Amino acid sequence: MTDIKKEYSLVIVGAGPAGLTASIYASRYRIDNLIISQAVGGLVFEAHKVCNFPSEKEITGRDLTEKMREHAESLGASILMDKVVRISKEKNGFKISTGLGQDILAKTLLLAIGTEHRKLNLPNEDKFLGKGISYCATCDAMFYQDKTVAVIGGSDSAHTASLYLSEIAKYVYQIYRRDKMRGEVAWVEQLLDNDKIEVIYNTQVVGLKGKEKLEGIILDNPHNSQKEIAVDGLFIEIGTIPRTNLAKELDLDLDESEYIKVGLDQSTSQKGIWAAGDITTNSNGFRQIVTASSEGAVAAENIFKYLQTLK
Ligand code: NAP
Repeated sequence: MTDIKKEYSLVIVGAGPAGLTASIYASRYRIDNLIISQAVGGLVFEAHKVCNFPSEKEITGRDLTEKMREHAESLGASILMDKVVRISKEKNGFKISTGLGQDILAKTLLLAIGTEHRKLNLPNEDKFLGKGISYCATCDAMFYQDKTVAVIGGSDSAHTASLYLSEIAKYVYQIYRRDKMRGEVAWVEQLLDNDKIEVIYNTQVVGLKGKEKLEGIILDNPHNSQKEIAVDGLFIEIGTIPRTNLAKELDLDLDESEYIKVGLDQSTSQKGIWAAGDITTNSNGFRQIVTASSEGAVAAENIFKYLQTLK
């Protein structure tokens, strides 16, 4: 059981690559830091295969997360598995209140709160969640052994989902709304070369069919009429949206898509608050494990400089 103090120089909200890397750097700057998060790893935890993180030719998201967590903890990081429900400004920093009733004071705050799965927002999407609909192939592929599934999307999440599902399911349709895939070319080459994956371009999924569970999807192609195909599962892999609650509560400046605006030093519009990782406007919008980690490192170094000025 982690021993939690009442006060820290730095509280990091979020334990994905940005938060864990920030903690690693903070600990080596001898900043006493606490990470608060409901889960460790963020969206990376769901990745079936990561092949572009330097020094790891191929690793699961779960294993990479575990290595990062171990590294952070070996340097003294404390991780509190809890939900941050409120952050209020105090005279000398912030009070962070958690769902399990902890109140923790922090001189500085780093938001590494990441993003969450974007939904299609079709009728019955919520009803069929866990009954044919999934947002995580790594978590749910095993339920589709020798079944027919569809994946929606044309970027890396969809590509890696299709490739993983092709190892388990009988047949995989990948449905994309445009005519040329985005994302890493290495994934695209693999999926176009895979006999169990059929890519359907220029097509949207516009309806979900089924009584108690998903049984089919309705496809819309502007050149043809609508058609229904039978599937046992549908994996919605159409990107992510920022988690905005805390940022709005703290009155941080956001861009038009609600990502937290940050400077080159990862500082936000409010003194004493930094942000790093997928939640920010930095890294040219290229949301990768390595860029999230890099933003976490930059934030920690800048927080160190700021804390020095308080002495
Ligand atoms: P993304 O790159 O934002 O792509 C989202 C895809 O979904 C796009 O193809 C987009 O279409 C499509 N889409 C969005 N809204 C849609 C809608 N309403 N209906 C139908 N299609 C829709 O998201 P991502 O694939 O989740 O990747 C996010 C980041 O994580 C990327 O930087 C990616 O490189 C990284 N990632 C890496 C790995 C890996 O290497 N293992 C795995 C997953 C993700 P358009 O193309 O038309 O916009």
